[in-house]
Amino acid sequence: MELFELVTAQTVPEAVKAQAKSSTAQNGAEVRFIAGGTNLIDYMKLNVERPTRLVDINGLPLDRIEKTADGALKIGALARNADVAQDATVKEQYAVLSQALLAGASPQLRNMATTGGNLLQKTRCVYYRDTATGCNKREPGSGCSAIGGYNRMLAILGTSEHCIATNPSDQNVALMVLDAVVHIEGVKGQRTVPIAEFYVVPGSTPQRETVLEPGDLVTHVTLPKMPSGAKSVYLKLRDRASYEFALASAAIVMKQDAGGKIEFIRVAIGGVGTKPWRSTEAERALLGRAANSANFRTAAEVALHGAKPQSQNGFKVELAKRCLTHAMGQASQSA
Ligand SMILES: Cc1cc2nc3c(=O)[nH]c(=O)nc-3n(C[C@H](O)[C@H](O)[C@H](O)COP(=O)(O)OP(=O)(O)OC[C@H]3O[C@@H](n4cnc5c(N)ncnc54)[C@H](O)[C@@H]3O)c2cc1C
Ligand code: SF4
Repeated sequence: MELFELVTAQTVPEAVKAQAKSSTAQNGAEVRFIAGGTNLIDYMKLNVERPTRLVDINGLPLDRIEKTADGALKIGALARNADVAQDATVKEQYAVLSQALLAGASPQLRNMATTGGNLLQKTRCVYYRDTATGCNKREPGSGCSAIGGYNRMLAILGTSEHCIATNPSDQNVALMVLDAVVHIEGVKGQRTVPIAEFYVVPGSTPQRETVLEPGDLVTHVTLPKMPSGAKSVYLKLRDRASYEFALASAAIVMKQDAGGKIEFIRVAIGGVGTKPWRSTEAERALLGRAANSANFRTAAEVALHGAKPQSQNGFKVELAKRCLTHAMGQASQSA
């Protein structure tokens, strides 16, 4: 770990001003916000992240979980993953988020990890973590050691010839099906970005992962009201039953009409995409159809249609399809 300066932000504008001095908000940032520190400190110890200045945002009033006047739920960027998972409204109306958070990390980590930090956690690609190897995300132009290397855990959707790293978060897959909106305060003021537009695929610039610019502080996310009677499920498949990242996961929100036809559907997949992966194609394949296993399997096939497996992760194509089919079945039964 390299030497760094630690400053404490007393206000949101102070935090924004401090990080705006960085040349980037993406990989390679010289100034970083620190929230729970469970991801950032890990990577600083590995010399993957080498900020010269950390801006501690833990004193900012951004930890509340509250209803808004229009019936949405506002979750502060500093709300801890454990608190969000156990919040009564989240459990009742946005169960998929509670389930996703509880499927991630460990109780100790969830007590520290924050909503904003989870949104921005880094890939677990082993080469990204190892500064002795080439990695375009960590060091642009140095190559991608994972292509043709150890890529069992990595992505099959949204990849490029420059990077095939997965977004490892469980939370973010749930936020996709909840149509979350990310609220940002930056040097030009406040703005909102729908979660579907927050992440970018690697293309030829894998060091860039989100639309964030220097100075941008995520202040909170909002979850719009879900249709009454809609049920949601998060299913995570992994190498061991706890304390492990997803090989494949599925987040589903579903509502059926009185005749058993699907009248509202949201589908997202985790563990297989370079960003949390929403499949509007699968949603279109299900809307207005009967909630049965044949239609679920067809939708899963559609969701994985563009998958491009690497040398070691071809098994993920079928795994993700089964994960989706099973999760849709669970959502339909609980509906
Ligand atoms: C052993 C282990 C196992 C794990 N397993 C899982 C798992 O199974 N599933 C899963 O989803 N996650 C898992 N995680 C990851 C964990 O969820 C993240 O480490 C955590 O969510 C990060 O939150 P944090 O508040 O600690 O972020 P920090 O480490 O403080 O920050 C992470 C990044 O976000 C930026 N940031 C933080 N807050 C803001 C903000 N408000 N605005 C702008 N930028 C911000 C920081 O600058 C930094 O770049 C695991 C982690 C560990 C160490
Ligand atoms: S997959 Fe991405 S993060 Fe992993 S080595 Fe290749 S460029 Fe780096």
